[in-house]
Amino acid sequence: MNPQVIVTDVQRPKLIPPKGASKVLLHSCCAPCSGEVMEAMLAAGIDYTIYFYNPNIHPKKEYEIRKDENKAFAEKFNIPFIDADYDMDNWFARAKGMEFEPERGIRCTMCFDMRFERTALYAHENGFPVITSSLGISRWKNMQQINDCGKRAAEKYPGLTYWDYNWRKGGGSQRMIEISKREQFYQQEYCGCAYSLRDSNAWRREHGRESIKIGTKYYGTEDKA
Ligand code: SF4
Repeated sequence: MNPQVIVTDVQRPKLIPPKGASKVLLHSCCAPCSGEVMEAMLAAGIDYTIYFYNPNIHPKKEYEIRKDENKAFAEKFNIPFIDADYDMDNWFARAKGMEFEPERGIRCTMCFDMRFERTALYAHENGFPVITSSLGISRWKNMQQINDCGKRAAEKYPGLTYWDYNWRKGGGSQRMIEISKREQFYQQEYCGCAYSLRDSNAWRREHGRESIKIGTKYYGTEDKA
């Protein structure tokens, strides 16, 4: 970690990982969601590694944009970044039969389970006593659903704890947006999977809006299209 790095200058709640653990594996879904989580852990002096495992993201172009941006932001802070598999075939296989489930439903439970299962396995194999995730910081997500999945995954390994810290509190949600604007992060317009893209576009059509154009919208800027 680079001690010279400047993070957002605010008073934050005191952040101590469960059982006073000295190492944390942070599952990250994207730079906008993890920006505040990363800065909060940096400010608290927590030694952490980012684990990017998101085979749900579709198409590949969107996946690469989200991953590369998250990686670049981690490099800024000298935070280790684990680029895990993009095993989307496995994701689609697990989503079979759930294609028309609504967001926050059983397909999303499967999706969170899958991502946490791999995160927990990596933590177990690489000596991380605690896992957590940026997934719950978005107000579009059901935090309880995410926490249940995280706990379920961690419980499989003795000594591994899922940290269910509420990253939204203490101004976290607001800082998430501020950091995204400051960094001009890519502004994704759907949750991530092919089905959320389909449903977001259907909603847009109904409301007379254009379909999503991947790779064109950035926080704090005009469209770069
Ligand atoms: S809507 Fe989001 S959380 Fe739900 S299955 Fe799709 S990518 Fe996963």
